[in-house]
Amino acid sequence: MSITLDTITNLSKRRGFVFPSSEIYGGLRSAYDYGPLGVQLLRNVKEEWWRSMVQLRGDVVGLDSAVLQARKVWQASGHEAVFTDPMVECRNCHTRHRVDKLTDPDLCPNCGQRGQFTEARDFNLMFRTNMGPVDSDENLVYLRPETAQGIFINYENVRTTQRLKLPFGIAQVGKSFRNEITPGQFVFRTREFEQMEMEYFCRPEEAGQWFEYWIETRSEWYRNLGMNENNLRIRKHDDDELSHYSAGTVDVEYRFPWGWDELEGIANRTDFDLRQHTEHSGQDLRYYDQEADLRFFPYVIEPAAGATRTTFAFLIDAYDEEEVRGEKRVVLRLDHRLAPYQLAVLPLSKKPELTEGAERVAAMLRPLYNLEVDVTQAIGRRYRRQDEIGTPYCITYDFDSIEDAAVTVRDRDTMEQDRVSIDRLEEYLRTKLPV
Ligand code: ATP
Repeated sequence: MSITLDTITNLSKRRGFVFPSSEIYGGLRSAYDYGPLGVQLLRNVKEEWWRSMVQLRGDVVGLDSAVLQARKVWQASGHEAVFTDPMVECRNCHTRHRVDKLTDPDLCPNCGQRGQFTEARDFNLMFRTNMGPVDSDENLVYLRPETAQGIFINYENVRTTQRLKLPFGIAQVGKSFRNEITPGQFVFRTREFEQMEMEYFCRPEEAGQWFEYWIETRSEWYRNLGMNENNLRIRKHDDDELSHYSAGTVDVEYRFPWGWDELEGIANRTDFDLRQHTEHSGQDLRYYDQEADLRFFPYVIEPAAGATRTTFAFLIDAYDEEEVRGEKRVVLRLDHRLAPYQLAVLPLSKKPELTEGAERVAAMLRPLYNLEVDVTQAIGRRYRRQDEIGTPYCITYDFDSIEDAAVTVRDRDTMEQDRVSIDRLEEYLRTKLPV
């Protein structure tokens, strides 16, 4: 179904997914805080990414590098130089252009639209701060604008300590910061956000094949987690759109309420980064192939996704409304691996014999699932609330439960109910909520 951005923003606020940051002080534009449900959804998205990219593979290892890195990293990567000229950003396609390079000052060379440029300003995308008490040029450091460079500068440490042979990948999830000229669309583009990036190092002659492999593998990840494939597409960058390091880039795009937009970029970064860091650091980052007695720079295929942006897309994609017995029902049809709570345990009433029974069931299941015990309001309202936050199963402890030691399990999507004995409950749920 098609929904508006407002619907999602309101649901996020009302149910505790995402709050505007610094709200009691009037808010800070484009910064957001993830509430109890949002943080759980976001963690689940990152966890599923890590599971598929690291845990389930034999050829990818993880890393968590610092946000603050030597300034030279950003000189070598090209980030310091690229955005220090007067720039305009196209409001339509969000590409940034150096004013002095524009052949026509009003025309975006990327999307061809006129009159969409922001005002020109001297602009560097990176946030600056100082290391230590003195505010001077020598102490200048940047907050990283991508996690990728943390991987390149640790390439040799990781390769040697883990005894890795090509092809192999290094994955990282973490915060990045960009002083975007045009943040917006809720959490789609923010100045502080989280990325999930993996650099896959391979032989140059195999780069084309790995590029195709990662496009397919990453697309499958979204589909496997329940994203509607009609809302997903792959868009290849035109040659004039490519980043300075790229020999080929595709975007995985999602059909957002405002149109198709990027979820993830998959790029063939060639040997650009390892070469640059070799040149700037003086450390030889070439790979030594013992059998062929050959030294060369590996090529890199990079699937770079946004954790916060992807979480937002899953939220939009899961949103559904239907009519049940003359009433509107809002359901988040989130995959059970992503849902903030997999279970809700609901005593039918507030009577102590029921709340105590429900607590015993909850205590048994808490080590296995994220769950919520909810005792307020009539049972129908509580079901609706759980539907709206995407909880796949509600377990109701009623008066019969005291006699038959069984509970009612209600399915979010079909609304069907099963009576399950408490001593079989774990086994039952294992089939309904597979890992
Ligand atoms: P865009 O132009 O759409 O903001 P980009 O093309 O500059 O993004 P990349 O440098 O390819 O983005 O970063 C990889 C991924 O990181 C993006 O696909 C996106 O999911 C995420 N990302 C980048 N910038 C932001 C941001 N400001 N806010 C949220 N997520 C972001």
